[in-house]
Amino acid sequence: RIVYCNGVFTPEEDARISIFDRGFLFGDAIYEVTAVLAGRLIDNDLHLDRLERSLAALSIPMPVSRAELEQIQAELMARNELAEGIIYLQVSRGEADRDFLYPEGLKPNFVAFTQAKKLADTPAQRNGISVDLTEDLRWARRDIKTAMLLGQVLAKRQARTDGYDDVWMVQDGLVTEGSSSTAFIITADNRVVTRPNSRSTLPGCTRHAVLRLCQTHGLRLDERAFSPAEAQAAVEAFVTSASSFVTPVVRIGDVAIGDGRPGPLTRRLQSYYIEAALGSVPA
Ligand code: PMP
Repeated sequence: RIVYCNGVFTPEEDARISIFDRGFLFGDAIYEVTAVLAGRLIDNDLHLDRLERSLAALSIPMPVSRAELEQIQAELMARNELAEGIIYLQVSRGEADRDFLYPEGLKPNFVAFTQAKKLADTPAQRNGISVDLTEDLRWARRDIKTAMLLGQVLAKRQARTDGYDDVWMVQDGLVTEGSSSTAFIITADNRVVTRPNSRSTLPGCTRHAVLRLCQTHGLRLDERAFSPAEAQAAVEAFVTSASSFVTPVVRIGDVAIGDGRPGPLTRRLQSYYIEAALGSVPA
């Protein structure tokens, strides 16, 4: 695989970053993930907007212009012949001798790579996933997409050990989000419910796209938080993310959702999303 590292396209085994990189030492770095389907980037403008916002929140400068960023993505896709998978971008504050206080004027380290993987029509999308409920132990600025992901790493490992596919995290009696996804439920009166954006969650790009699709297709929407008990009583549930699109949730904790199979509204949103991503006319 050819990766990108600070201005150079190189075989992955030749890419090098200093051990003094602040992303490595402090998690002082921002990342983004854009899906590639049929050789096309999905919702990339939303992801690059969020990258700019996340970097600005940490006062890390953009390492290259937005146009150059897009060129790097295109070049990586071409060199790796990526038709389906993801492009990962990471910008760290840069490197300096270890000190919590960072000096002014650091040069960011910028790396990017592709991962080929099947994103559409996966077993998870066809059959749905189970999620456990777990306390949200992350820091308070989850709207910034930092590489500091230990809360999610440990929660997801524990969920897997306990026989679940993933987790929904809970704070103050309300679901925040999935370990790497936005949480949605559908109520008995067919309303699509998801938490409003705030510092408590990452503002999902796929969430944004799905909310737009709800409007386009006349589905009723409630942007509000919901409790684990409400989620377990919902008629359908699903998660969204760049790499999982719309994935049904069929069990929350020890409770099956609906009849334990992906629901009809979730199915519709899945196909609306794929149609929009592929740029075809919605049915
Ligand atoms: N929340 C968290 C914590 C995430 O890591 C992700 C995945 N990046 C999401 C939500 C979904 O965001 P997106 O739709 O932009 O991938």
